[in-house]
Amino acid sequence: MVASWLIDAAISYNRASLENRDSYSAFVLLPVRHLERILNWSFKALPDEILIGFDPMDTMPMDAEVIQACCGAEHDSDLFAGQNFVIGEPHLVNRGNSYSVHHVPEEWMDDLFASNRGSRGARFTHWMHTHPNCVAIPSEADADAAQHTDGVDMILGIEFSNPDGSVFWFDDVEGVRRPLKPPTRSWRRWGRRRQRSVLGRSSTGHRIHGLELIAYHRTGVGVNVLLVDDEGMPHGLNMDSR
Ligand SMILES: [Zn+2]
Repeated sequence: MVASWLIDAAISYNRASLENRDSYSAFVLLPVRHLERILNWSFKALPDEILIGFDPMDTMPMDAEVIQACCGAEHDSDLFAGQNFVIGEPHLVNRGNSYSVHHVPEEWMDDLFASNRGSRGARFTHWMHTHPNCVAIPSEADADAAQHTDGVDMILGIEFSNPDGSVFWFDDVEGVRRPLKPPTRSWRRWGRRRQRSVLGRSSTGHRIHGLELIAYHRTGVGVNVLLVDDEGMPHGLNMDSR
């Protein structure tokens, strides 16, 4: 079962996704269960970033009512591969720094991937990589890596404090920010130190202060994300007529 703090954060995130739907030409549905699994992998891989591959779940087409509720005014129904299906199981593909994470080891490429489809091969439709302690805004290396993606690229930014209490958060980057739960600006006073509010805890015991999630198409346009349950229904989205 997905942690309740993550469901709460997903509800808040989805609300913002719906409010901003007219700013996007397409959207994806990502099961929140996958996000929890990816978070677990991310903390185990620290300080590395991780790369995750996904295929569309071809047994779960998007619900017609969800499509109607999530489409913006400028919707493009044919922007990328797998657009009409809920995103399937995550596969941990690689780990490394912000550059090397996109370069899947060559022996894997020979065995598993078609080698003429860019640094990450062509096995998966969608990709996600993590930004531990950095905002979810694509770097130049990220934009390059996305050039061979048929579906969407996603970035998960994770703000956390180390077990010794130290926090490092790099946010000096221009771009549209999509926090899972907007920062409350409520820094609790803790002795003489001011502490950042805690969103949730990782399986490794790290305090998670914030999460950011974005998706984008290789042409550079942003793709809206909604976090869904196992039936493909966005958390917190009111579907009265169902
Ligand atoms: Zn990156």
